[in-house]
Amino acid sequence: MFDGLPDSARDRLPDSARDRLPDSVLDRLSDSARDRLPDSARDRLPDSARDRLPDSARDRLPDSAEVVVVGGGFAGAATLSALAEAGVRDCLLIEAEDQPGAHSSGLNAGLLRQVVPDPVTGAVLRASASRIPGAHRKPVGSLLLLADGEADRALAGAAAEAAAAGLDCRVVARAEAARAVPPLAGAAFDRAIATASDAVVDVHGLLWEYLRAARDGGARVATGCRLLGVETSGGAVVAAVTSLGRVATRVLVDAAGAWANGVAGLAGLDPLPMTPFRRHLAVTPPVPFVDPGWPFVWHASAGWYFRPEVGGLLLCACDEDAAAPGAAVRDPAILEVLATKLAAGAPALAGLAVKHWWAGLRTITADGRFAIGPDPRLSGFFWVAGLGGHGVTGSAAAGRLAAAAITGAGADPAWRTALAPGRFL
Ligand SMILES: Cc1cc2nc3c(=O)[nH]c(=O)nc-3n(C[C@H](O)[C@H](O)[C@H](O)COP(=O)(O)OP(=O)(O)OC[C@H]3O[C@@H](n4cnc5c(N)ncnc54)[C@H](O)[C@@H]3O)c2cc1C
Repeated sequence: MFDGLPDSARDRLPDSARDRLPDSVLDRLSDSARDRLPDSARDRLPDSARDRLPDSARDRLPDSAEVVVVGGGFAGAATLSALAEAGVRDCLLIEAEDQPGAHSSGLNAGLLRQVVPDPVTGAVLRASASRIPGAHRKPVGSLLLLADGEADRALAGAAAEAAAAGLDCRVVARAEAARAVPPLAGAAFDRAIATASDAVVDVHGLLWEYLRAARDGGARVATGCRLLGVETSGGAVVAAVTSLGRVATRVLVDAAGAWANGVAGLAGLDPLPMTPFRRHLAVTPPVPFVDPGWPFVWHASAGWYFRPEVGGLLLCACDEDAAAPGAAVRDPAILEVLATKLAAGAPALAGLAVKHWWAGLRTITADGRFAIGPDPRLSGFFWVAGLGGHGVTGSAAAGRLAAAAITGAGADPAWRTALAPGRFL
């Protein structure tokens, strides 16, 4: 009798009726209806239907886990994946939102950039970039425009160091850069650093790849599950208290992005010096002269960048305003700032309409480097935080460094001490 019901009617059935549904009907239920099924009915779902259940419904929280990772952005997902790769099967990732990547990790520009002023961060990004699967990046290359300021000279120095270390970057003349991206012909710059292996990352593809690899290695992911407290005893972590229950664990990984200091506070720890900064991105409608094969273009000292995006351009004014952790609220004034910067620095791009725009948070430590490793104040508490504006590019290295710190195994990269959270304490 249920077979003849329209889907909407089946969705409104009381639990007692839905519990008697035959398998053929259960399989055709909408996700939200399946999610509300009583356990007895869910247990009878065929594998094909159970696979499509959200994690929160499929996996009730376990009573214990070897490692609990807090945060389903690049920091948490890459750490979970690296732990699985290291053979740690009993891991649980909890994410407060209904889906992973709901904050910075889903709101960024997706640039894989390997030349940055800080030599330690540069080395981390290059090591990380080589581990990001080719399937999730479009190798368009980049042009970092240089003028004659001190910051530009520092960046050119960083490029020389990176080239000496094997990166495929070189300084090109203004004319060559403008041949590659014609609107640069009228732009204000002297020369550019061209890095062939820089790329645009398919951020959702990469994030889900980390999560899929972790699940294949035995990890569980619980969305809609917020960390509410951390139980400690004798100076060590003993349990994570979450909105879906208590999970005994000796290792808690704080990968909570802008909320990382709040999570530390739940464990009784004073904050590390790191601040969330808001940044906006804007996308234009299709623009006839844009070539989707252009490299991304970044003028660091002038403070703007752009790259092709679905026939138009993704534009950024490199704004940086301190903000509280949370969903970043857009400021319309930034569109004016962007227009002014482009009019002055890249007139060919001035006056483009904006189709949609948004803001996200980049959480930056006091010295600008990632904070990855154990907290010396509480045994079992690890940080993977402060990924700033490089969390996509740096994710593979960040995850592996965190996993090595947790397991005590694996190569000790040269930058371990430079990124240790203890440097701030
Ligand atoms: C506009 C913009 C452009 C950017 N462009 C680039 C770029 O081109 N290239 C690049 O490499 N990087 C870029 N970044 C930086 C990159 O996006 C970040 O470094 C990265 O996403 C940070 O990842 P995360 O996992 O640390 O934080 P998030 O992605 O914010 O993840 C943290 C997660 O923790 C969860 N959480 C918080 N508290 C709790 C709790 N109590 N319980 C459970 N879960 C909790 C949150 O819901 C959140 O999903 C950009 C960022 C912005 C904002």
